[in-house]
Order: sequence, then structure tokens, then C-alpha cells
Amino acid sequence: MLRPAVIDDAGARDGAVSLLLPELRRYLARDVDGEAIDREGAIPEATRDGLARLGLFGLTIPESHGGAGLSLGAACEVVATLAEADRSIAIMVGLHAGLGTRGLVQHGTAELRDRWLPRLASGECVASFGATEASAGSDLTMLSTRVKPVAGGLRIDGEKSYVTNGGFAGLFTILASSPGLGGARAASLVCVPRDAEGVKIGREEDKLGIRGSSTVTVTFDGVVVPWSHLLGEPGKGIVLTHGLLAWGRTIMSAGCVGAARSALAMAMAHTHTRRQSRRPLSAFGATRAHLAWMSMRTRAMEAIVRDVSAAAEAGGPIAIPSAIAKVYCSDTAFAIADRALQLHGALGFLEPTGVARLLRDCRITRIFEGANDVLLVRIGAALLADPSALGRTGAEALDALALRLGAAVDAARRRWGVGAVNHQLALQRIARAHIALAVGAALLDGDDAGSSHAVSELVSEGNEALEALDRADTDDARAAAVLSVLAEA
Ligand SMILES: Cc1cc2nc3c(=O)[nH]c(=O)nc-3n(C[C@H](O)[C@H](O)[C@H](O)COP(=O)(O)OP(=O)(O)OC[C@H]3O[C@@H](n4cnc5c(N)ncnc54)[C@H](O)[C@@H]3O)c2cc1C
Repeated sequence: MLRPAVIDDAGARDGAVSLLLPELRRYLARDVDGEAIDREGAIPEATRDGLARLGLFGLTIPESHGGAGLSLGAACEVVATLAEADRSIAIMVGLHAGLGTRGLVQHGTAELRDRWLPRLASGECVASFGATEASAGSDLTMLSTRVKPVAGGLRIDGEKSYVTNGGFAGLFTILASSPGLGGARAASLVCVPRDAEGVKIGREEDKLGIRGSSTVTVTFDGVVVPWSHLLGEPGKGIVLTHGLLAWGRTIMSAGCVGAARSALAMAMAHTHTRRQSRRPLSAFGATRAHLAWMSMRTRAMEAIVRDVSAAAEAGGPIAIPSAIAKVYCSDTAFAIADRALQLHGALGFLEPTGVARLLRDCRITRIFEGANDVLLVRIGAALLADPSALGRTGAEALDALALRLGAAVDAARRRWGVGAVNHQLALQRIARAHIALAVGAALLDGDDAGSSHAVSELVSEGNEALEALDRADTDDARAAAVLSVLAEA
């Protein structure tokens, strides 16, 4: 177990992860059956207990409260390792370490932290987070769930959809509209214990992937909690949620890294053993190109997750960097899983091989914790608001791309001003170029010998995005024309 007693400073704590990982890998190989988890649609309780014994529910909870107090980067390495074995488990642990407990760790009252964190660290209690509702998905300003001051505390009424870990969680952090706390349009974060009167847990959703991960609707019907259950300043819930999401998205990106590693390993093993035309598949040039692409992309994903984690540890803002990592890692992991399936041929299409499950499990990460389409618009808009985010790396090709992107951003600012928000395609293409730059720069930071090819591919992608930027308005008009023809038909 990752015991706080043997870990006395931050560096040593993170160092202890390298001791934990081999033990974790042995546990996962011996005791976790991803195929059964997928088939049964649940993680067995014995597996949850085993993970708890290894200390996995206390990864990012401070040592003072029974956790391991790991840095974000170290926690990411653990979650990536879990995802190599099973994505549902990685999401259960990652959500607990991210959105589930981060609010309490950062913004909880001393009383609430003392009561709940030790139980959350030991795994006796698992954490959930609820923001999404039937009418509030990408737009969290549309919340119907209400929290209001009443005699004896805060009363909560409403319903949260798609609550990960909700089937067995003991504590929910929820974002609710709070007109009585901080203004008419305010929202606040509140912790609600599962056993509070008026909490009802819905049935498990039937999903395409991560079928072992618990996903339920949770209803709050006149639930009353003490004031001490409010997290942070009243009325600041949306801002606080964005902070939690930045942390959670980084951990989720690490899960994508694990999935990509696993897809690459499966593709390598298969293409070295399967023979066609008297040669192993790996001897074909086209196969080698796939494998090299998958390996370079995996490295790039590792680099951007490391980069964002390091920025968080240095106390820097990671709202946009974590969105960049999330979009890049989720898109890329899915593409890598797809190539792994292709290289397996018909076998890849069959469930027992495990590649199909890997692909299904990867799909959700492009949707949750911020749909990629929405995040791309935000990344583009943020760069327009603050072009100084485009630093120089000293690498010629990347700096030339940064210069070209900087000029495109200046032109967009002059042309559209604040009206740029209405030019989503343009913002997304600016975002794609920014992502290519950020990931390329992260690869340089990592001083990775094999990354120069990946950097030059990223530069090409960034340049392609900027070429597409020039066509954004035309493409937008064409899409509108196509839809108006469809509407008339
Ligand atoms: C398995 C699973 C687990 C989940 N776990 C949790 C959880 O633990 N806690 C939680 O709070 N939520 C959770 N969610 C919900 C998830 O975060 C939301 O599904 C996600 O934020 C998107 O919201 P939505 O589904 O309402 O999509 P919508 O907001 O309806 O968007 C659908 C699509 O419309 C487009 N779109 C929407 N808005 C814009 C825009 N402004 N600009 C451009 N395009 C746009 C995008 O293509 C987007 O993908 C989970 C969902 C699933 C499926």
C-alpha cells in the first residue's frame, strides 16, 4: 500500500509511485478481468476493496487526512497504468481523485474535510460529482437543481444526470443554482452525503463503453445539509467547477494515455505474430507506418499530460492547457484504438480480442468533462482574448508556426473583435493550430529523442489547420446552405 508513513516529502511521495506501479501492475494482471467487467457492467466489490487496499482512493488526498498526497503528475501516472488494464476502473479512480474529491480538498471547511477525507482516502467511501442535468449539459448556466438557505442549513431540490460512481458513492459534490446565495444567477457547490434524507439513486445506464463504470441519475428531493457542506464562497460554484474540471481533465487525459499504450501494445503483439503473404504483418511498410504513428502519438500524449501536470504543480493556471490536453488525448486515443482495430483485421471486430472494447471505452472521453467541439471553441476564444499565450520554444519549425498563428489571431481580432464568438469554425481551427503547437512544445520539454518526427507532423497539422482557417467562413456558409436545402426537402 502507498503508506503516508514512509513518504515524508513531496518528491519522496511522488517517488513512491515508482514503487507502487509494479505492485499495481501485478494486482491488475492477477485480479482484474476487463472482459468480465464489461460483460457484467460492473466493477466487482472485491476489486474495489483490492484497489482500496493498495491506497488508490487516497492518491491526491493530503497525508494529513489519510491520503498519499501525490502531485497531479504522479496521480496521472497511476491512472494511466489503471487505464492500460481497464478503463472503467481508471475512470472510477480518476473521477474520485479529480472532480469527486478535489472540491472538498481545496474548498471544504475544516469540519467537512476532517469528517469525510479519511473515509474517502481509505476507499470506505467513494466520491461522485454532479453538474450535468437534463437541460444543462455543455451550458452549465442552465441549472434547474436549486440550493437555498432554510432553517437548519441548505435545502437541495433537483436531479443530476450521468453521475459517475453514483451507484455506490457515499458523497456527492453537486453544482446547483443558488439565487439566494450570491445573486440571482449564482450557483454554488455543495457536498451531499448519500444517506441524507431525500437522496434517491436511479438505475444504472446501459452504455456503449466503460460499461463497468457506474453512471446513474441522482435525485435530491428536499434534502437538507448543514451550512458546513457548502464548498468555497457561496455563489462562486461555476468558477470553482471550472477549476475542478481543469484538474479532472488532466487526470482523464492520463487515462487516454493508458488506453493508447494498451492499444499500441496489442497492435505490436498482433502484427509481429500474424503472418500474411509469408511475412509478419509488421514487415509491411503500411503496417510499420501505422505502428510508428501510434507510438509517436502516444509519446505526444504523455508529453502534454506531463506538461500540464508540471504547470499545475508550479501553481500556474491550467484551464486552457488542460482543455488542450483533454481534446488532444481523447481524439488521439480514439484514433490509436481505431488503428489497432484495423491492424487486427476481422479479429479486431470480435469482442474476445479486447480491441473492440478498447475502442468503445475510448469514445466517451471526447464527450464528457467538456465536449471536444465546445472545448475547441473555448481554446480558440481564449487565444483571441490573450494572444500572449503563444510563447516561443527555440525550435525553428514550431516558432514559425507560432508566428503564423499569431498573425492569424491578430487578423481575427481586428476583423471580428468580440463578435469572434459567432465564428465557431474559425475558433476551432485556431484551437487546432494552438493544440499542435502546445503538444509540439511539450515534446521538446520532455527532451525525447524520438520525438522530432512527431513534432514535424504536429507542425504540418498546425499549418493545415491555419490553411483551413482561411476557408472557415466559406465552409460555414456552405454548411448553412446544405442545411437549408435539407430543410426545404
Ligand atoms: C458515461 C458518462 C459519464 C458522465 N459522468 C458525469 C459526471 O460524473 N458528472 C457530470 O456532471 N456529468 C457527467 N457526464 C455528462 C457529461 O459531462 C456531458 O454529457 C457533457 O458535458 C456534454 O453535455 P451533453 O451530453 O448535455 O451534451 P450537449 O451539451 O447537448 O452537447 C451535445 C453536442 O452538441 C454540440 N454542442 C453543444 N454545445 C455547443 C457549443 N456551445 N458550441 C458548439 N457545439 C456545441 C457538441 O458537438 C456536443 O458534443 C457523463 C456523461 C456520460 C455519458
